[in-house]
Amino acid sequence: SISIENLTKRYGALTVVHGISFTVAKGEFMSLLGPSGCGKTTTLRCIAGLEDADGGVIRIGEGIVSAPEQGVVVPVHERQIGMVFQSYAIWPHMTVAGNVGFPLAIRKVSAADVEKQVDEALEIVGMRHLRERHPSQLSGGQQQRVALARAIVGRPQVLLFDEPLSNLDAKLREGTRAEIKRLQRELDVATVYVTHDQEEALSMSDRVIVMDGGRITQAGVPKELYRRPANRFVADFVGRAS
Ligand code: ATP
Repeated sequence: SISIENLTKRYGALTVVHGISFTVAKGEFMSLLGPSGCGKTTTLRCIAGLEDADGGVIRIGEGIVSAPEQGVVVPVHERQIGMVFQSYAIWPHMTVAGNVGFPLAIRKVSAADVEKQVDEALEIVGMRHLRERHPSQLSGGQQQRVALARAIVGRPQVLLFDEPLSNLDAKLREGTRAEIKRLQRELDVATVYVTHDQEEALSMSDRVIVMDGGRITQAGVPKELYRRPANRFVADFVGRAS
């Protein structure tokens, strides 16, 4: 599970996340939905530890990973998270196995354990037979599976996605969306999924948080947001035809 209490993030004089709070239960798929600049990526990066929060408490499972007021900041590779980025960020000079094992290798997991966990992750995404290939020898869909395998390697407690479909063509998008849902159910992990696409958020999520200007405008199950938007902003944003 993930719990965020009063998360605040500033860039210089600009506050981009204004003390937001939410929780995501184990097995729950939660989207952060909102227009460009609303602070959703920043929130995700604070959970991941890629940005330092300025205030509030972030818990992953039972453990506090960020509480700057108490001097607690757990580094990225010690948080139990797997993350998939918009640009898949797989390394061309490394094999499939090298890419997938990278998050474990930097955590000083033994070579034998890395091998075992890499094979397990590749098996889950159906890519084990391609483990020695380089990314340039893979199709776009296969490269994505490498990125997904890297996110789930070592069985993280939490999966974080930042607009993972936005750079894909329509056909690949459908397949990847289904694959993300399948993995998330199979691993039964708390998931935060950042998107500006309301259709994606409403159709994939158990719950959706709508953000605007660094604040939460409304949180609820998709049906609720669609049928009973809390205000004009949610109505316009969620109801807009895609
Ligand atoms: P997008 O979908 O465009 O990425 P977003 O909702 O994810 O939008 P964020 O990326 O979280 O929004 O950005 C929130 C605000 O913080 C924006 O106003 C952005 O310009 C600002 N911002 C983000 N990163 C930085 C940074 N490194 N330095 C200064 N300002 C930043």
